Amino acid sequence: MPLLRSYVEGSWFTADEQGAPLHDAVTGDEVARICSAGLDFAAALDYGRRVGGPALRELTFHQRAALLKALGSLLRENREELYTLSARTGATLGDSKFDIDGGFGVLLAYASKAKRELPNQAVYVEGDVEVLGKGGTFVGQHILTPRRGVAVQINAFNFPVWGPLEKFAPAFLAGVPSLVKPASQTAYLTARVVELIVESGFLPEGTLQFVAGSAGDLLDHLTEQDLVSFTGSASTAAKLRTHPAVVSHAVRFNAEADSLNCSILGPDAVPGTPEFDLYVKALVTEMTVKAGQKCTAIRRAFVPAAVADDVAQAVGARLGKVIVGNPANSDVRMGALASLEQREEVRRSLKALRDAGRIVFGDPEHVEVLDADADRGAFMSPILLRCEDAERAEVHSVEAFGPVSTLLPYTSTEQVVELAARGQGSLVGSLVTADADFARDVVLGVAPWHGRLLVLDRDDAAESTGHGSPLPALVHGGPGRAGGGEEMGGMRGVFHHMQRTAVQAGPATLSKITGRWVPGTPRRHDGTHPFRKHLSELQVGDSVVAGPRQVTLADIEHFAEFTGDTFYAHMDDAAAAANPFFDGRVAHGYLIVSFAAGLFVDPAPGPVLANYGLENLRFLTPVYPGDELTVTLTCKQINPRDGEYGEVRWDTDVTKQDGSSVAKYDVLTLVEK
Ligand code: NAP
Repeated sequence: MPLLRSYVEGSWFTADEQGAPLHDAVTGDEVARICSAGLDFAAALDYGRRVGGPALRELTFHQRAALLKALGSLLRENREELYTLSARTGATLGDSKFDIDGGFGVLLAYASKAKRELPNQAVYVEGDVEVLGKGGTFVGQHILTPRRGVAVQINAFNFPVWGPLEKFAPAFLAGVPSLVKPASQTAYLTARVVELIVESGFLPEGTLQFVAGSAGDLLDHLTEQDLVSFTGSASTAAKLRTHPAVVSHAVRFNAEADSLNCSILGPDAVPGTPEFDLYVKALVTEMTVKAGQKCTAIRRAFVPAAVADDVAQAVGARLGKVIVGNPANSDVRMGALASLEQREEVRRSLKALRDAGRIVFGDPEHVEVLDADADRGAFMSPILLRCEDAERAEVHSVEAFGPVSTLLPYTSTEQVVELAARGQGSLVGSLVTADADFARDVVLGVAPWHGRLLVLDRDDAAESTGHGSPLPALVHGGPGRAGGGEEMGGMRGVFHHMQRTAVQAGPATLSKITGRWVPGTPRRHDGTHPFRKHLSELQVGDSVVAGPRQVTLADIEHFAEFTGDTFYAHMDDAAAAANPFFDGRVAHGYLIVSFAAGLFVDPAPGPVLANYGLENLRFLTPVYPGDELTVTLTCKQINPRDGEYGEVRWDTDVTKQDGSSVAKYDVLTLVEK
């Protein structure tokens, strides 16, 4: 049997021992062997810091995003081969798509989000400049720079592709190299993905290393710049979180642990309503996808006491149609658990749950299987329990990590909110209701215990991504028992790998550091209108001052009539004066913005291609007939794009004759390179 190889220090490493066997979840046959003995973990971390980190930091966010995109597309082309391997973990084709396509989807989603939301630079400037002194000579700004360590990523067995990739993508974008350690049980699938990645040659050397087998003394060598992102059981999370190196170096540690997620059926969703059917369907899906081995699966199903019998019956009827067996057979709806040991673990947990409730569907010891040997594969029937006393401690503390869920009747909104919290922190909760008041009370009541909440009803169901699917754009994680961590969540996941630093300095120095023009920095006037400059010629600080232009009453009336905006403050002197903000009729804010554009544009065709928006627009002082406007436009930030043009952000300050600002905003333009 092949011994899985690790990929460290730029080459493949094979242990000098036989290794432990990894078994096919369906046939029990040996798939591969695994061992990391002899691997030099200290050297691997050092290599990541020394080789991978600097290579990544050479690239801008957009260049890293382009590599992720290329990688995602390439891996997609190889997915058929991976599905075959994935079936050996017990996964049906649907399960495999969830894991494999889901993982590649994270790479692609992060690539496109990063292009839209991050600058084409290597430093991220966060938020506004904070003016710290009255004279404006001392300011502050937060910046984010990549940590100089390695992101150590330890994953659970149930998502051998998605798990590593959803951690890798944000780390890579941040500019931090990864060292991936999947759970041994299903590491052969992760290993194949890593082989494809390494063979592609897309990634700079040292940015992705891979450990097949145990983590050895890996954690002993962590330093203050490294990170650990862990997914797995709460007990392992607790052990790693308190590892002496993690504690003494304050290593940034993120945990995604087990979670007793709930789903709540609203009192309005009686049998016969679309919501009742949606609830039943979602519960069965969550019990059977990946044979219930999903950290987000529904473990506690809260239903109004009055309809508990109906729910039990409807769920049982659906579960009765679920064909269990060889996941390679297309008639099979639910495959095997990842291993016989895992099945034993689930049976053990079930014993505790059965002390609190009774089984209303399924038999933990027997199941009919299609196209497979029930004695060799880790097959199990879906098990629905019902516990009349929803206060029993077991149902809120024991996670059976398999196709297992417990029905729990509740009698009031207050009670169900309180019961949901007894899970002590969950990754996700859902409620199925068409009653928006109930949804509000429950969401606001249980949100502090949840990382994500889904409200499902007849209107959003068709487009809903479901209870169990974490999404790259949204936070995945949960408080307390769920690990207390956050992954993904769009750019939050990227920033997690970076150090936020508050930089305090004078405006000109800060401008130099961040590459952005900061108010208070001298502006540049070289005689050429900045709109006549190509991106390559333009410099941050290039500026034009235009005006003054007087605003007349005729202008205001013309604008009102032309646009139809005859709001009284522009039309009726007495009514305007009665308004606490005005002394009489005032100019429209949009008239001011329009006049400002009329003042600053350089009209002839040139490198400025388009105005694509305004940001942070504020009207600060009223403009009365007779006031004179002047506009100062300053190049604030230059963000080159891949193609023929880039984005330029212009600081815009419209002032009137006494020097006071009447409007401030950023103008966004596209400018030819
Ligand atoms: P586990 O036993 O805690 O193992 C998780 C990972 O930790 C594996 O890669 C394991 O490696 C590694 N590990 C174990 N001991 C270690 C140590 N001393 N030092 C370094 N690494 C160590 O969990 P599992 O059985 O694989 O996964 C099932 C659990 O994960 C369930 O409870 C489930 O709820 C949870 N889970 C949570 C999420 C989430 O996103 N929150 C997702 C999936 C699963 P080896 O395999 O080589 O031992």
